[in-house]
Amino acid sequence: MSSTSHVVVVGGGPGGYAAAFYAADLGMRVTLVDPGENPGGVCLYRGCIPSKALLHVAKLVEEAKHAAAWGVAFGAPTIDLNRLRGFKEKVVNQLTGGLGQLSKQRKITYLRGTAAFRDAHSLDITGDDGKTTPLAFDYAVVATGSRPATVPGLSIESPRLMDSTGALELPDIPQSLLVVGGGYIGLELGSVYAALGTRVTVVEMTGGLLPGADRDLVNILAKRIEKICEKVLLNTKVVSMKEAGEGIAVTFEGEGLGEHPKERTFDRVLVSIGRRPNGAVPGLDRTRVKVNQRGFIEVDEKLQTAEPSIYAIGDVVGEPMLAHKASHEGRVAVEAIAGEKVAFEPLAIPAVVFTDPELAWCGLTESDAQTQGRKVTVARFPWAASGRALTLDRSDGVTKLIIDPATERILGVGIVGPGAGELIAEGVLAVEMGANATDLKMSIHPHPTLSETLMESAEVFFGHATHVYRPRRTQ
Ligand code: FAD
Repeated sequence: MSSTSHVVVVGGGPGGYAAAFYAADLGMRVTLVDPGENPGGVCLYRGCIPSKALLHVAKLVEEAKHAAAWGVAFGAPTIDLNRLRGFKEKVVNQLTGGLGQLSKQRKITYLRGTAAFRDAHSLDITGDDGKTTPLAFDYAVVATGSRPATVPGLSIESPRLMDSTGALELPDIPQSLLVVGGGYIGLELGSVYAALGTRVTVVEMTGGLLPGADRDLVNILAKRIEKICEKVLLNTKVVSMKEAGEGIAVTFEGEGLGEHPKERTFDRVLVSIGRRPNGAVPGLDRTRVKVNQRGFIEVDEKLQTAEPSIYAIGDVVGEPMLAHKASHEGRVAVEAIAGEKVAFEPLAIPAVVFTDPELAWCGLTESDAQTQGRKVTVARFPWAASGRALTLDRSDGVTKLIIDPATERILGVGIVGPGAGELIAEGVLAVEMGANATDLKMSIHPHPTLSETLMESAEVFFGHATHVYRPRRTQ
């Protein structure tokens, strides 16, 4: 790379803007292209941030309800939807506006529009006005992200059928909502609507919610989801949907239906069955970039595609489709462009489900270890033994460490309970730094906090946790 290299970043999500900002900080000439008014992408405009603003409100409503058990009763909440939407939009505007400012301060050229490749060193940018301008580059970073998947053969034209973007708009508070898909987006948005007073049904094709996460952790969350939802249908599929007066008539099929009617009409249906990569960037076929059958752009460990001048990062290159993974890849791609010897090889990419309770994990999961036939020791600390958890009246959590019994190294961490999303950061550090159970056990954690559950899990591994009596089994 020469210091005057021109880097064009296509897509202004958390992958794209992180890459653009870093490239500018390293002295490169940078252009960032995105259709949005400001950088932000899915994460800030219609993903992580608006959903978490609404989940905060949902948490408050649920806690206020729960407070009756402690002798503090509030009346039923009155929801002013306009103000609620206003709060969410204010957060989004503040953050995206801030990114616009940061982009200007770094002297990045921000072009509002969509990019199409002409060849390995030039693009056409089409703006809002339909005008197309050519742009040459030394390097391009493709960060075009992903979009909601649709149910094959089932989609109908109906304003009552929503994807995550539509659900985040909060068009109204429907009396009934069917959430199709028991993954994290469906559960998070379903929790928001349930807290606002909607009767929510979740339908999931497989035998459990949150496929991929450890069952012992999911089971704790599932209990609560079953409480706040009208019904959770597992092993059940939606086989048809049609508009029916003021709602959508849905037909189900599957062994999990039990007594539940095969047909039911819902005021609204939210389809959240996963996301598809935006790999079909126009003109990419004029370069050597390879897009696989699932629509992901193929990259090596430096995030470089088969076309040496083009890198790709974020949701468009593969799972997990998470904002922090996208940003991290963005920084690695930029360092590679700068000529540094780098590789994207994390030991732990944390995943967080921001429901109540939160569920978070990083590194090796227990089920992965089982699938791989890898011998691990699992040290579990139940939150019923945590003073801090009891002060919150939330003894339903669990913290667990997945440990290599030979080296005592921490390979993975899983947590379910309020605040798990914050706590998992310590797990990431432990896994990345190659910490062992003694390191975690000997690090003094503040009392009374939920973070102690990590330290005490390590003590459980040695069979001498202060707050649980579980002597170590002799091998
Ligand atoms: P994106 O954020 O998808 O951005 C891509 C950008 O590229 C978009 O602005 C798009 O318009 C633009 N673009 C596409 N094609 C072109 C083109 N040809 N020219 C120019 N621009 C183009 N992740 C988390 O880590 N934590 C969460 O809590 C979380 N919650 C989520 C909640 C919801 C409801 C959703 C939908 C997603 C959530 N995600 C979460 C996922 C997260 O949003 C994505 O992983 C992240 O946004 C991916 O970043 P990215 O940079 O790869 O792409």
